[in-house]
Amino acid sequence: MMRNRRTYRIRSIAAKTAIVYAIVGCLWILFSDRLLEKVVSSMDQVMLLQTYKGWFYVAITAFLIYMLVLKDLRKLDSTNTALKESYFKLEETNEKLVQVENSLILSEERYRIAIEGSSDGIWDWDIKSNRLYLSLRVNRILEISADVPPESMETVNELSDPNDIRTILWRYKKCLEGSSNHCTSRFRIRTSDNTFKWLSVRGKLIYDADGIPVRMTGALTDITESIAAEERIRQLAYYDVLTGLPNRQFFIEQLNTALLQPDAASRKPAVLYLDLDDFKSINDTLGHDLGDKLIQAVGSRLISILPPDCLISRLGGDDFLMLLQQTDSKEHAWSVADNLLSELKKAFYVEYHELYITASIGIAAFPDDGKDSKTLIRNVDTALNAAKEKGRNGCQTYIDEMNQRVQERMEVENSLRNALLNNEFRLHYQPQVDIHTGNIIGMEALIRWQHSKKGLVPPLKFLPVAEDTGLIVPIGEWVLHTACIQGKKWSDRSDTRIKMSVNLSANQFRTKELLDTVIHVLDSTGIDPLCLNVEITESIAMEDLEYTTELLRKLKQLGITISLDDFGTGYSSLSYLMQLPIDVLKMDKAFIDNITKDKRVQAIAKSIIKMAHSLDILVTAEGVETQEQLEFLRQHDCDAYQGYYYSRPLPEHEIERLLQSETGTWYR
Ligand code: C2E
Ligand code: CA
Ligand code: CA
Repeated sequence: MMRNRRTYRIRSIAAKTAIVYAIVGCLWILFSDRLLEKVVSSMDQVMLLQTYKGWFYVAITAFLIYMLVLKDLRKLDSTNTALKESYFKLEETNEKLVQVENSLILSEERYRIAIEGSSDGIWDWDIKSNRLYLSLRVNRILEISADVPPESMETVNELSDPNDIRTILWRYKKCLEGSSNHCTSRFRIRTSDNTFKWLSVRGKLIYDADGIPVRMTGALTDITESIAAEERIRQLAYYDVLTGLPNRQFFIEQLNTALLQPDAASRKPAVLYLDLDDFKSINDTLGHDLGDKLIQAVGSRLISILPPDCLISRLGGDDFLMLLQQTDSKEHAWSVADNLLSELKKAFYVEYHELYITASIGIAAFPDDGKDSKTLIRNVDTALNAAKEKGRNGCQTYIDEMNQRVQERMEVENSLRNALLNNEFRLHYQPQVDIHTGNIIGMEALIRWQHSKKGLVPPLKFLPVAEDTGLIVPIGEWVLHTACIQGKKWSDRSDTRIKMSVNLSANQFRTKELLDTVIHVLDSTGIDPLCLNVEITESIAMEDLEYTTELLRKLKQLGITISLDDFGTGYSSLSYLMQLPIDVLKMDKAFIDNITKDKRVQAIAKSIIKMAHSLDILVTAEGVETQEQLEFLRQHDCDAYQGYYYSRPLPEHEIERLLQSETGTWYR
């Protein structure tokens, strides 16, 4: 139709053009000749001009024909080019189409291979009809024969473990209610050989144009092996290889869970920390293999004694942590611990050996001793240490002060390290007085710590830490040196000799360098050795009697004298004393405190003084605070005394003032 119309239009244009040409041609022939005849008179000229006119006409028409043909040819050519281009484009598109088709075929093929080859099964659930399509792989995993495919979700549900199914259904319900369009779950099914198979199901909701879920589709994987691997990793991460008991990590996680329970405050869970006493000696004497077997036997015994809900874990070595889920009170936890100790005392039979052990137990209970696992474990550790310090084979509940003590100790340790460098130590001196003449015959140098924040710290607050850390050795040297400089100064200015008494610590006494240090100090300060006295305690002296005797003899050879400090608090063995080359025996304050009140103490004091004198040893009474005490001591021939009754320990300048007022002669 369109084509006909176009042909008609073309024809009419051609016809019109031909008619216009014919009319113009006729008019030209008719009027041009007439016009020539009028303009030109000679016929010859008319003939000539007519010839020219003919030529002109031919030229004009030839030019017009040329223009027309040229225009059409050009049009034809551009149409041709456009046609060619379209053809090429078409060919290109066609090629691409072929490629796409090929790759589609390829990816479909790959997808099919992937589904068949992968461990995943595919499922598709039509929600409206409640029909379920399962791939062959799903059938195989679920052990459903291919010719009886399950028809609905309920069929699958029947296969699953009832407990798991509840969770899965809840998740799917939530998913359908719109909380998410993805759903992932793990569940178990019972297999034909009555074992469990673990499955992982992932699903995605598909909605219609109105946003209503119409299908759920996804994959199902058999994850039994990876669950088993997870379990093996968990076993390694959470259990102790030797005993098979849970390890520290597991214990802490369980403890955290127990503490978070809403009824934790009423159940009062308690942590027991058990450590075998002197287990090292079993390892050392019988070997590690036997030690390991004993640890295993201890673990088994703990399991057999403790209630089934009690969590027992091994921390390594011979340490066990236990969690009592429910205790009425700390006393209850204590009685459980006490029972453990007595059960552990019964013989262990390990490889034909009959072994006996004891243990120590620390106890910390929620919430009094800690509201979180970290605090409870730290405090139960402190309680265990206290139980060990108390003398082993016992229990100890946590007491708040213990932690404070630990804290304080750490603070002391840190700042003590710099105290010597910062010149923070001071010496105070307590006069020692001749009981008969009342003259000052000596001074005991006593250390203090001038702490920037705490003020003047007494020695018993920091010396034990210094002793444990070994810092006591340089501190002791400083004391010896400073006291000797002071002793020399006072002796030089006094008419009578003032003996400077310096305390030696256990650590200091044991160092090989002690003798050299003393010699060096005597040399460098220039003090007369007769003006120096060292005090050692009975316990230090008794530790190694032979070494003590030897060292004391060498010190005495230098000219210095020796006092035995704190006599009456330790062994108090006079028979041992006889072996030691000591000059002075210092009767402890504990004796003096009761010397006027207790007849037995009086009797002992009297006999000590007598015996000492019979051994040529002088007796100094420490901590004399009253006139009565002094009187008693004087009557019973004690030689010297020191105590608040005469003077407290004082700093250098106050002692100088005292010396001046008492003797009046010494200060030159
Ligand atoms: P210690 O050697 O038995 O010293 C006597 C302690 O009893 C001193 O305590 C002294 O202040 C105190 N005291 C003296 N008279 C009385 C009294 O009448 N009543 C009372 N209540 N106490 C009295 P301080 O100075 O606190 O020293 C305590 C302990 O610290 C000393 O006991 C000594 O064992 C040790 N210590 C002090 N300075 C040094 C030192 O430089 N080196 C070593 N290794 N130990 C030192
Ligand atoms: Ca002393
Ligand atoms: Ca003493």
